[in-house]
Amino acid sequence: MPFKALNLSDPVLRGVQAAGYTDPTPIQLRAIPVVLGGGDLIASAQTGTGKTAAFALPILDRLGAHRPGRQPRVLVLEPTRELAAQVETSFRNFARFTDLRATAIFGGVGYGNQRAELKRGTDVIVATPGRLLDFLKERTLSLQDISILVLDEVDRMLDMGFLPVVKDIVARCPKERQTLFFSATVPPEIQAVASFALRNPAKVEIGVARSVTESVTHALYPVSHDQKFDLLLALLAKTDFESVIVFSRTKHGADKIARKLKAANHSVAVLHANRSQNQRLEALAGFKSGKYEVMVATDIAARGIDVAGVSHVINYDVPEKPEDYVHRIGRTGRAQAVGDAFTLVTPENAKDVRDIERFIGQKIPELKLPGFNYNPIVPRPPEPFRPRGSLPGQIRHNSNFRRFSGGRRGGRR
Ligand code: AMP
Repeated sequence: MPFKALNLSDPVLRGVQAAGYTDPTPIQLRAIPVVLGGGDLIASAQTGTGKTAAFALPILDRLGAHRPGRQPRVLVLEPTRELAAQVETSFRNFARFTDLRATAIFGGVGYGNQRAELKRGTDVIVATPGRLLDFLKERTLSLQDISILVLDEVDRMLDMGFLPVVKDIVARCPKERQTLFFSATVPPEIQAVASFALRNPAKVEIGVARSVTESVTHALYPVSHDQKFDLLLALLAKTDFESVIVFSRTKHGADKIARKLKAANHSVAVLHANRSQNQRLEALAGFKSGKYEVMVATDIAARGIDVAGVSHVINYDVPEKPEDYVHRIGRTGRAQAVGDAFTLVTPENAKDVRDIERFIGQKIPELKLPGFNYNPIVPRPPEPFRPRGSLPGQIRHNSNFRRFSGGRRGGRR
C-alpha cells in the first residue's frame, strides 16, 4: 500500500516523497491511522522500523498550519540529546512543505538559541527532560497548549532514571490530550507508566521486540582477552566495510579503543556521555559525512542513532543487557539494508552470550577469522584483591574487588 492510501494531507505527502520514502513500513501502516484518528497509542517496535515517521507524519497532518503567538502544541520527549536532535531534523524534513516549526531542546549547549526559538514561536518541541524543565521553571515555555504528547524510547528513559521527571512533565500537560507511547519492549513496569499517561490506548506491536533484524548476519568471534584489540584490527583490515560502529561497555574503554585505533591510522569518532555536546555533534556529523570511518560508542550514547549506511557493527565488549544486543545490532541493516554484526567474546562472557541467545531465541554462530594468529583461549585468572586506592584502573574493572569489599565501590568506578 502506498503512502497516498493513508489519507495524509498533500503537503505532508510531499514531505514524505522528498524524504525518498515510497511505501510505509509496517509500524507506519498501523500507527498512522490511529494517530490521525486522535486516539492514544502504545507501540512496541524495534529500533530502525521507521517509528519516527509513524508519529511525525500524522502529527504534522493534525497540526495543519503554524499558529503565531501560541505556545507549542506538540511535545516529544527523548532520552538523549542525539535522539532529540535527530527526531527534530525528521520533523523539519517532513514539514518542509508546510509552515510548521519544530525546535529541539536539550542540554549541553547554551540556552540562548533555544530560548530565542521558543520566543519566536514553535509548534513542535522535541526535548530531553532536564533542559525542558529548566525552560518550564524560568517560564520561557508553558505546556498549557500541548495537545499531543509523545513519549519516545520509554524503556531507555526509565533505564536512565528519568521516571520522576517524566511523571512531572506529563502532569504539567493538559489532561485533554493525545498521548503516544513508543518503547522497544513493554514489560509490566513500563505498562505501569503507560497506565498513568494514556487513556484507552490502541496497541501496536511490530515483530517481536526480541528479534534481530532479518537483514543482519551476525557472528561471535571467540578470542582471549589479551588479543581482543588485535582481532578488532584484523577484522577491520579484512572486512570490506563502509562504516563501522564499535561498541564498548564503558566510556573509559571507548576512549582507549579510539586512541589505539587512531594510532593504527583509522579515522575515528567517539560518542559517549562524558564528551561535550559539541564533541558529540561533531562526532556524529563526521561519521555521517564519511570523515570518520569508525565510530566507537557506548550503548546509551548510540541508542536509536540513525546513520544511513552503517555496514558493520562490532561489539568489542559483549553488551551487559541482552536487549542492548538487539539495539546495537539494529544500527546496521536499518530499513532493509544488509549489514554484518560481529561480537568478540572471551571466556568470561560465556554467561552473557547464553543470556543473549536465550533472549533473541536463536544461537549465534561462532566464527574464526582466517589467517589470524590465535593464542590458545584461556580464561583469565581472577585478579587478586588490592586495597582501595592502589592502581584504580585495575580496581575499576575488577568485579572481585566489589565482592570482597562488601559491595562498596570505593568512591569511583
Ligand atoms: P527510525 O526507526 O524512525 O529511526 O527509522 C529508521 C530508518 O528507516 C531511517 O533511516 C528512516 O529514514 C528510514 N525509513 C523510515 N520509514 C521509511 C520508509 N517508509 N521507507 C524507507 N525508509 C524509511
